[in-house]
Amino acid sequence: MGYVCCTRRGAALEPGIAHNKAGTADLAQSAPDLHDRFGRRISYLRVSLTEHCNLRCQYCSPEDGTPLFARKDHLAPDELDRLLGVFHALGVRHMRFTGGEPLLYPWLVDRVARARDLGVEKLSVSTNGYLLDRLAQPLAQAGLRRINMSLDSLSAERFSRITRGGDLRRVLRGLFLARDCIPHIKLNVVLLKDENLDEVPELVGFALREGFDIQFIETMPLGIAGSVSRAQSYASVAEAEERIRRSHALEARPRAADDGPARRFGVAGYAGEIGFISPISQNFCAGCNRVRLTSTGRLVYCLGQEDGVDLLGPLRGGFTDEALADFIRHKVWHEKPERHTFNDEPGRAAPVYMMRLGG
Ligand code: SAM
Repeated sequence: MGYVCCTRRGAALEPGIAHNKAGTADLAQSAPDLHDRFGRRISYLRVSLTEHCNLRCQYCSPEDGTPLFARKDHLAPDELDRLLGVFHALGVRHMRFTGGEPLLYPWLVDRVARARDLGVEKLSVSTNGYLLDRLAQPLAQAGLRRINMSLDSLSAERFSRITRGGDLRRVLRGLFLARDCIPHIKLNVVLLKDENLDEVPELVGFALREGFDIQFIETMPLGIAGSVSRAQSYASVAEAEERIRRSHALEARPRAADDGPARRFGVAGYAGEIGFISPISQNFCAGCNRVRLTSTGRLVYCLGQEDGVDLLGPLRGGFTDEALADFIRHKVWHEKPERHTFNDEPGRAAPVYMMRLGG
């Protein structure tokens, strides 16, 4: 490989692979964790398993979906397993399977088992819930303890409009079946001024009563879907928070070192948490601890970024696990940007779709 990594570690030095006594790279034991040059440790990998989705949410996807990649261009399950192992050896302790709709990926249950066997500490799946009636149980048996489920409205009519045809009853059936076997369920609500901002208190009441966490997310300007949606119906999390505070006293929850970008609150008497994610109104990049892997093996350093780096080529080109780890460490160190640029040019949408990146 054409990359030289130094072996000293320091604030401005790129970490290199440590070597064992025999002088060979001992990946699992001694590879330094993944860092970027802004002092952030990268401990969270979001894996988009497929760009297929059975819904077409307004803010996520164009009406006709996005062009699908050829099968040969996707990571095969064993290739993905190798990459999961490499990322785990690089110190990644939180993995999320997303999409598209990850429950449409035929080998999801086995990938969950693979991540469990690796010892991933926090493993979660993001889903629209459509197939949870069939898959919640097998996923729980494979070791899944956490899901995030998109639920933007409790009105069947609004839900259908936002998702372009989704059936609320079916999603709720999946949600309640999942509650019987998966202990941590978080509802994701993308805020839409004209569709669900007025429903925020009702969504919070539902989550707290039923024992779910809930988080509100500002619409990000990704793809045509993102820009159209943002221009027409962007609402800040502050507006949602203000509505919740009219009926609930929010108690701030302490942040853990490896927490994501959400600000979290509890409500006395309830177990569930309320979170706010504000990519637009309050930049959250200083605490970014994540990178993304697409279904075609592209490593994306930042949401809204157009490029990233291909890992499929090196993987199929004969790189060993150690060489892959070295390559990934080098690329993340040099190329993960300090922050996203959503706010730099208002009205401009990044030319990527969330349904490919995985949110
Ligand atoms: N199909 C799954 C689902 O519905 O959750 C997983 C994929 S979806 C891309 C993952 C998350 O991204 C969802 O919570 C969704 O609401 C969020 N999302 C999609 N487009 C977004 C956008 N433009 N802005 C903010 N969040 C978005």
